[in-house]
Amino acid sequence: MNHSTTGMNRRTLLKAISSIPLLTAAGPVRALNKSDVIVIGAGLSGLNAALLLESSGMNVTVLEGRNRIGGRVQSLRNIPGNPEVGGTAFGPGYARLVDAANKYGAELIDITPIIPYFFNRQINLQNQFISNDEWATSPLNPFPEQFKKLPPYGYYNILMGSINPLETTDAWVDPANAKFDISLHDWLKQMGQTDAAIELAYNTNPTHGMSAHDISALMAMQSASFGGMQRKLVANNPVKGYTAKGGNQSIPEAMANALKSEVILNTEIIGIRSNADGVEVHSSDGTIHRAQRVISSMPCTTLRRVKIDPVMTGKQELAVHTLQSQIINQLHLIAKTPYWEQDGMSPNMFTDSLAGMVIAEHKGDKPADVTSLTVWLRGDRAAWADQVDTQVAINAVVADLERLRPAAKGQLEVAGYKSWYRDPFSSGDWSIFAPGQVTAFASDIANPHGRLHFCGEHTAVSNRGMEGAMESGERAALEILSA
Ligand SMILES: Cc1cc2nc3c(=O)[nH]c(=O)nc-3n(C[C@H](O)[C@H](O)[C@H](O)COP(=O)(O)OP(=O)(O)OC[C@H]3O[C@@H](n4cnc5c(N)ncnc54)[C@H](O)[C@@H]3O)c2cc1C
Repeated sequence: MNHSTTGMNRRTLLKAISSIPLLTAAGPVRALNKSDVIVIGAGLSGLNAALLLESSGMNVTVLEGRNRIGGRVQSLRNIPGNPEVGGTAFGPGYARLVDAANKYGAELIDITPIIPYFFNRQINLQNQFISNDEWATSPLNPFPEQFKKLPPYGYYNILMGSINPLETTDAWVDPANAKFDISLHDWLKQMGQTDAAIELAYNTNPTHGMSAHDISALMAMQSASFGGMQRKLVANNPVKGYTAKGGNQSIPEAMANALKSEVILNTEIIGIRSNADGVEVHSSDGTIHRAQRVISSMPCTTLRRVKIDPVMTGKQELAVHTLQSQIINQLHLIAKTPYWEQDGMSPNMFTDSLAGMVIAEHKGDKPADVTSLTVWLRGDRAAWADQVDTQVAINAVVADLERLRPAAKGQLEVAGYKSWYRDPFSSGDWSIFAPGQVTAFASDIANPHGRLHFCGEHTAVSNRGMEGAMESGERAALEILSA
């Protein structure tokens, strides 16, 4: 073939060659980009790290697997009030998060007027409704005499507030406390709690693990310490809690908008290769991005599917491959009529039935307005819902709610459903340290692996949830700045 017949000169040929996909293990290479730092994940931790590095003059690329910003902060914009399927609420003590919202222009909403609604839940156990007045003397109340007035959804937190031996929020990783790295169940038994009290107060709607048997007491203590610290921080503050206008997802979105380069969405990372010169990040569409350093904000449940070269070893490898994430499913419903006015009970429920925990969202113009209902499926219920077809799970939960509350029959419109376990970019919700795992690897999980650094709520030490994510992003950015 003669160049003149194809109309191609040497310059255009070179240009054409540079755009031909190269074949790699990951498929064709679509682009080779270079930055100082690549951040994997556009959740709060990754975005906080990226913004801090950019503000220090670094060139940062953020790669995100999903088609949206926010990670485990996700707001349902198609439902009145924009209820949350992820990070739900936070207090003024979430200093980094509040600061980011103010700095990057996400408007905060003071939710203090609606907090009391949250604590009024209709108790239903063994298919019986028990009013708040009847609860203290109910035969189904297993709590010690002095605590009998506490509702089953309040007992555990108040108990932990009074018996938690940790004095600071970072004491859970102090080797001096390793003796508490046993199951929460065993520790509560040592503290005089009965099986029946643990079953009702913790296992009926577990926040960590399937039951108190499979989470470390140290993790429960840290969670309680963090909650206690947050309550102290708001003691003299008239504002007790916040969400963001448009839903909490507006905060990571505002953070992403403040970055110099747009977050690259729909980029699922499948491999990270480092050598003396830098790091290559491979995505499932064959794209390769290069940088001097990389921060991964992926939770361990997705990081363990990424091929890392050189391989991780020791405690860190154990952490990445064994740390689990909580399973939680949510069903969002819109009530066509306020059926709770008909049966005279609170729309909120705490039940040992399939419907689990029902919370009315008060996100309208007036605090009393109910904009939607959120059903939280945790523990066994979430595990069951994840095993069956989504529609089967949804129908069963709605049927259970209608069975318990006949006034709700035909009044519930399904507006949204989320399984965090089935979401491939999280494969679960917040991280849960099993008995023994805090001492096994909590202090090693975030160690840099050569040029690869880690952030994400699972690596936070002093804070939890959204503020933990922010803390971890800050720490990872500082690691790079001081490297
Ligand atoms: C139902 C629910 C309720 C919650 N309630 C609260 C609350 O009230 N208060 C509170 O403080 N916290 C709460 N949280 C926790 C809080 O939302 C999280 O701790 C926090 O958002 C985690 O941020 P992160 O940056 O660590 O992780 P993520 O937000 O998960 O960010 C990690 C990012 O990495 C991306 N990613 C993962 N794998 C890959 C891959 N292979 N390739 C490319 N990208 C990838 C993900 O898509 C994600 O965007 C809640 C969470 C849930 C789910």
